[in-house]
Amino acid sequence: MSEHDVEQYRITEAPYYRSVGEEVALYEAAYQARMPVMLKGPTGCGKTRFVEYMAWRLERPLITVACNEDMTAADLVGRYLLDADGTRWQDGPLTTAARIGAICYLDEIVEARQDTTVVMHPLTDHRRTLPLEKKGELVHAHPDFHLVISYNPGYQSLMKDLKQSTKQRFGALDFEYPEAAAEAEIVAHETGVDTETADKLVQVAHRARNLKGHGLDEGISTRLLVYAGSLIAKGIAPRAACTMTLIRPLTDDPDMRETLDQAVETYF
Ligand code: ADP
Repeated sequence: MSEHDVEQYRITEAPYYRSVGEEVALYEAAYQARMPVMLKGPTGCGKTRFVEYMAWRLERPLITVACNEDMTAADLVGRYLLDADGTRWQDGPLTTAARIGAICYLDEIVEARQDTTVVMHPLTDHRRTLPLEKKGELVHAHPDFHLVISYNPGYQSLMKDLKQSTKQRFGALDFEYPEAAAEAEIVAHETGVDTETADKLVQVAHRARNLKGHGLDEGISTRLLVYAGSLIAKGIAPRAACTMTLIRPLTDDPDMRETLDQAVETYF
C-alpha cells in the first residue's frame, strides 16, 4: 500500500545483540514457517533488542506496540478519523504491519484486555487474515508478515494471564538474564566501562536476584546494569551510580535498600 512509508520501519544499522543460546536459529526457523513467536522473560533481559536484531537480520521492517490495559482493539487495527473532508480510515499498527509484511512486536501483551488480544487470532493461524469490521475489509497478511509478542511470566496472575486459546497459537522462547560472563560483556559493550567494572555490576545484580520473592518483586535487570555502567562511564562514582540505577528504582523498602546498599559496598 503506497500510503505506508515502509522505510521508516526499517532497521538500517545492525543492532548489537549478544546471543545467549539457540534463539537466533530457532527464531529464524519459526519465521520461515511463519509461526508466531512468544518471548517470555522478565523486563529488561534483552527481548526487545533480540526482536530488533532479528528484524535487521531478516531484513524486515519492524513495528513495535507497547501494550497497556487501556488499549482497545481499534488501537491495534485502526479507526475512522474525522477530518475536514469527513471521515477517513486510519490503519492501526497491526494492520499496517500485516499490509507491508513487517514483523509486528506486541510488547507486554498480557497488559491488554482479552477482547483486544483476540483480534490477532485470525492472523496467527493458516488464515493469516485480519478483519477490519468497522471498515468492512478483510486484510490478507503480506507473505512476510510475522507476529511476535512478549510476556513476563512474573506478572502473571489469575486476573492477568493470556487465555490458553491465545497462548497455544505461538511457539515460545524463554529469556532469562544472560549468564554472568555474557551479561558483563553486554554491559561493557553497551556502556564502555572496563570488564572489571562490568563484572562487579553483574555480581551486584546476582545478589539482588537472589532476593526475588524475598522482598523484591523483580531482580536487577540487564537494562538497569546498562544504566549503572553508563553513569560510571560518565564519571559518576560507582556507589552513587548504583544507588541511582540499581537500588532506588527497584524498591522503597528501607530494609531492602540497606541490604542492596551492602551488596554494592561489597564490590565498590
Ligand atoms: P526487554 O525487552 O526484555 O524488556 P531490552 O531488550 O530492552 O529488554 O533490554 C534492555 C537492555 O539490555 C538493552 O537495551 C540492551 O542494552 C541490554 N541487553 C540485554 N540483553 C542483551 C543482549 N543479549 N545483547 C545485547 N544487549 C542486551
